[in-house]
Amino acid sequence: MFDKILIANRGEIALRVIRAAREMGIKSVAVHSTADADAMHVRMADESVCIGPPSSINSYLSIPAIISACEITGAQAIHPGYGFLSENANFVQIVEDHGLTFIGPTAQHIRTMGDKITAKDTMKELGVPCVPGSDGGVPDLETAQKIGADIGYPVIIKATAGGGGKGMKVANTAADMEMAFRTARAEGKSNFGNDEVYIEKYLTTPRHIEIQVFGDGKGKAVHLGERDCSLQRRHQKVFEEAPGPSISPEERAKIGKICADAVANINYIGAGTIEFLYENGEFFFIEMNTRLQVEHPVTEAIFGVDLVREQIRVAEGLQMSFSQDDLTINGHAIEVRINAEKLPNFAPCPGRITQYHAPGGLGVRMDSALYDGYSIPPYYDSLIGKLIVHGRDRNEAIARLSRALGELIVDGVDTTVPLFHALLAEADVQSGNYNIHWLERWLDDNLAS
Ligand code: ADP
Repeated sequence: MFDKILIANRGEIALRVIRAAREMGIKSVAVHSTADADAMHVRMADESVCIGPPSSINSYLSIPAIISACEITGAQAIHPGYGFLSENANFVQIVEDHGLTFIGPTAQHIRTMGDKITAKDTMKELGVPCVPGSDGGVPDLETAQKIGADIGYPVIIKATAGGGGKGMKVANTAADMEMAFRTARAEGKSNFGNDEVYIEKYLTTPRHIEIQVFGDGKGKAVHLGERDCSLQRRHQKVFEEAPGPSISPEERAKIGKICADAVANINYIGAGTIEFLYENGEFFFIEMNTRLQVEHPVTEAIFGVDLVREQIRVAEGLQMSFSQDDLTINGHAIEVRINAEKLPNFAPCPGRITQYHAPGGLGVRMDSALYDGYSIPPYYDSLIGKLIVHGRDRNEAIARLSRALGELIVDGVDTTVPLFHALLAEADVQSGNYNIHWLERWLDDNLAS
């Protein structure tokens, strides 16, 4: 059993892990850059270590600094949160080589799923339905054009190493292929150091539906239903809900079982998310994330489980505290991502918080590292909080979200809160009638500067 764990992250997710650890009687170590000396995760942890200057590359991404922080403090395990080193197989290997435990999947699982072509091949073999497209990598433009003609336009060209919405380009017609192919390759090379790309049919009206899975590393795995994350801007999620308004219990049970069986088959350990596009009643795998997702709280709300606690348990070699039969859905949950960004262009808006008041009451959870007088540093992601509401049904969750957003005060910086007030007034959002393109169109029509 762990006495002390280190959290290799910052912001709300660092608090999330500290809270779970504290409830389990485990001490926590925060690491921070010089820019985060006054951050809430540093104040809340039992101990903290400064690991470098503001730039993430020299602090939150510095493997030697993080391993040293473990050695100095005697932490036995590392929780990576999301982002930063959470999907870095090399980091996992180094952690293990130092006799420490990585709270997450194995280096091998991360490597397999981190390369989108290998991930797709693996999932296909495990019986998971995939988007039609090229068989593996596409070496040159000529081949790309041939595949485009075969599967029919529009197509999407994706960098195998891509992530965070980068390294993906759509070609609507054959004439767009050259530009899209070259740009996707160049983005893959410059952002991820790998210019290999593959091609998929571009689905025009899908929803983004992802299945939460959890494995014990010994061949047992469960699914915790789906999240609908279709409201996206530039392929980035802004509003997530569970269960998905378009998914029936039969569809959930079927795709859920396929996913749980697939991860059980590879002895997957910990939390994972299998992402699909869903169109006309069919699921198409796009990628697997081998970590806790930003939007995990909506799943926690409807199943009444603590996913971080489970991650820590299985990393300690314990069994999961639930089996598939224990997992039943209760009500509906929605999360909105509060970013320090200025509308209409979503320009990052760091600065000093002059007043902060979190909403409360029945069914409201605010995960945030903000406090009065806190200065948001300009070096990191603009996510400053997640507001999660839970109701007996979708309508109650929507009313509760509107009420909670009204109570939230974040003064001193611009945030995405006005966007959510406006979205909740839309009939399509109220009825759950949207796909992955809905928000982009709405932004063009309503917020265009
Ligand atoms: P990333 O790793 O960058 O998040 P994903 O492969 O998960 O990339 O895709 C992110 C988003 O891009 C999806 O949620 C969807 O909106 C869009 N997308 C990806 N593949 C396709 C496709 N074949 N057709 C249509 N949209 C797609």
